[in-house]
Amino acid sequence: MRPIQSIIIHQSDSTFGNVDLIDQWHRDRGWDEIGYHNVILNGKEDGLSPYDPTVDGTIEYGRAISKMGAHCRGSNRTSIGICLIGKGNSINVFTPAQLQSLKALCSSLINQFGLSWLDVHGHNEFTSQKTCPGFDVKQWALEQQDKENNSVSASEAFKEMDEAWEEFKLTIKGMFPEGGSDEV
Ligand SMILES: [Zn+2]
Repeated sequence: MRPIQSIIIHQSDSTFGNVDLIDQWHRDRGWDEIGYHNVILNGKEDGLSPYDPTVDGTIEYGRAISKMGAHCRGSNRTSIGICLIGKGNSINVFTPAQLQSLKALCSSLINQFGLSWLDVHGHNEFTSQKTCPGFDVKQWALEQQDKENNSVSASEAFKEMDEAWEEFKLTIKGMFPEGGSDEV
């Protein structure tokens, strides 16, 4: 396995698409196969069919992660490329389901490759010539990190409350030994 040091987010710059279609586009450019490792669908797989909510947020697999991608000049060797289907300069061009899937996918890759949310970048961080993916991924990643930290500390707090409750029950039990005070 090649070393993975970062996750780079892209947009398809199209209002529809999927792995098969992008694979076709990239082969038309003379590439071996699709340059991205994952594609996250927005519910419109082609230009003709209506929006299909059942595929909104679907994570598709493109190039094998073990293979170097073709998505970010100078950074392909050690990165994973994820493409969101969508077009525009705002995070709002992507559906909530897509952003939810992006979060879950990044989270899982972060765990798998021992990365952190600081290793998640937008294509536009690597070149001034691209606005792709159209939003501030660094900011978005920090928000996801904060949410994760908050949910970890919340579950730790619940665990502490449980432990305190168990201790309290033991104390009460100690104060009233079984078969106790009725007899007196
Ligand atoms: Zn890009």
